[in-house]
Amino acid sequence: MAQEDVFKKLVAHCKEYGFVFQSSEIYDGLGAVYDYGQNGVELKNNIKKYWWDSMVLLHENVVGLDSAIFMHPTIWKASGHVDAFSDPLIDNRDSKKRYRADVLIEEQLAKFEDKIEKEVEKAKKRFGETFDEKQFRETNGRVLENQQKWNDLQARFVKALNDSNLDELKQIIIDQEIVCPVSGTRNWTDVRQFNLMFSTDMGAAADGAMKIYLRPETAQGIFVNYLNVQKTGRMKIPFGIAQIGKAFRNEIVARQFIFRMREFEQMEMQFFVRPGSELEWFQKWKQTRMNWHQALGFGSENYRFHEHDKLAHYANAAVDVEYKFPFGFKEVEGIHSRTDFDLSQHQQFSGKKIQYFDPELNESYVPFVVETSIGVDRMFLQIMAASYSEEEILSEDGKKDMRVVLRIPAPLAPIKLAVLPLMKKDGLAEKAREIIDELKFDFNCQYDEKDSIGKRYRRQDAIGTPFCVTVDHITMEDNTVTIRYRDTMLQDRVAISDLKNIISGEVSLKKLFAKL
Ligand code: ATP
Repeated sequence: MAQEDVFKKLVAHCKEYGFVFQSSEIYDGLGAVYDYGQNGVELKNNIKKYWWDSMVLLHENVVGLDSAIFMHPTIWKASGHVDAFSDPLIDNRDSKKRYRADVLIEEQLAKFEDKIEKEVEKAKKRFGETFDEKQFRETNGRVLENQQKWNDLQARFVKALNDSNLDELKQIIIDQEIVCPVSGTRNWTDVRQFNLMFSTDMGAAADGAMKIYLRPETAQGIFVNYLNVQKTGRMKIPFGIAQIGKAFRNEIVARQFIFRMREFEQMEMQFFVRPGSELEWFQKWKQTRMNWHQALGFGSENYRFHEHDKLAHYANAAVDVEYKFPFGFKEVEGIHSRTDFDLSQHQQFSGKKIQYFDPELNESYVPFVVETSIGVDRMFLQIMAASYSEEEILSEDGKKDMRVVLRIPAPLAPIKLAVLPLMKKDGLAEKAREIIDELKFDFNCQYDEKDSIGKRYRRQDAIGTPFCVTVDHITMEDNTVTIRYRDTMLQDRVAISDLKNIISGEVSLKKLFAKL
């Protein structure tokens, strides 16, 4: 199956099985904003717990924080975001209307797509029943011509974006003869940068409302609390502060489902170290974070480090952990050595001394920082992409069948155990409920009595449930059940009293931590 098709199926699966819904769907959605459904929220919470515990429980010198989304606007001035966190913008001189250069080009791309779809629709009507859409798309002259134009433009566009080449973006708009929809002219200004931060007003206008920003990263909340945590926690350098929280970016390229969102969640840890030791710590965290990813067991060949060629002016080392998504190797996490840039900036802008007195050196300094920064949603997508599998199997009645199975690592699976009475009568349903009542304090359990056992197994496979337990007539006699394992589909007969042990060994996060 082509990788693009795999991705499309994955997106459809996320919706069909209650993992991810488009935000405001009944109002036709809101671009690059998504909601997590009943299974999605469980997976998301488990990912966050895996990260949080690996940072805060496993490292004596890493503590947590939950800072507010709204912060004093000067923080974003100090951090450089007000001046330099931006995307390309263009004006039409005649209409005085403002556009995003990239959106104009995206719309031009969409025009080629529309032309292709119109050709296909026309041909569908003309050929009726006998229409072979795939063949038509592969051979029709007009379709191929528009596809070629789309490919060329897309390639040029992506290159210009990646190169941050604003002149080239303008040149594309001119070469494509894109006109302003209001004035109808091509009288364009040069392309300038557009800030990615969302802003809003705090307080009533009469009181002198203040323009504040929705944070585009959680890290600044950590920097401005450095002194609070260091002092109240009596933290000794080196130490880290970990935080999970929402971040907002008015992203321009918002096409790859939850890969790039306008509202998303980050898990960030800022590690404060002695100046001069930062590159050593950078190497340590780089390895620690890669181990965390690889402990999930999705195959080390699917991960790689990508060293940054171009470093931000404040960084002296930066690397991304990339995963092989269906659309190629892409960043999941960034590890950055940020020097003393942020703390020094806040020291300067706030006028407060932000330093650490190092008793071993008997001197004060502004600590250096190594950061690990990962998106919860991107990690979610990575796990879904790695787990999704379509398999040919023999069904319960011996016929060839297909199953979609999410091979989510058991400690992260939304539901750990499904309890299925073979039939509702003869007390089997009540027995199944009894088992759930016993285990529900330990694991997320689900009861299902509808449809054949085979269909119920398929439903649990599709949401990644590692264990299914079937209650039958023998259960009523000897208190044993059939336990079925998701990955192998093998079944065992076990005592109900053994279930807790069997399952907890597999679904505990300890199983992942043991590999770190
Ligand atoms: P990209 O190059 O993909 O835009 P970035 O380099 O801007 O990402 P960082 O600022 O380093 O990303 O953010 C750290 C992490 O936050 C990323 O590795 C990613 O997992 C996540 N992230 C960043 N932007 C988004 C977004 N728009 N949607 C979802 N996750 C995001």
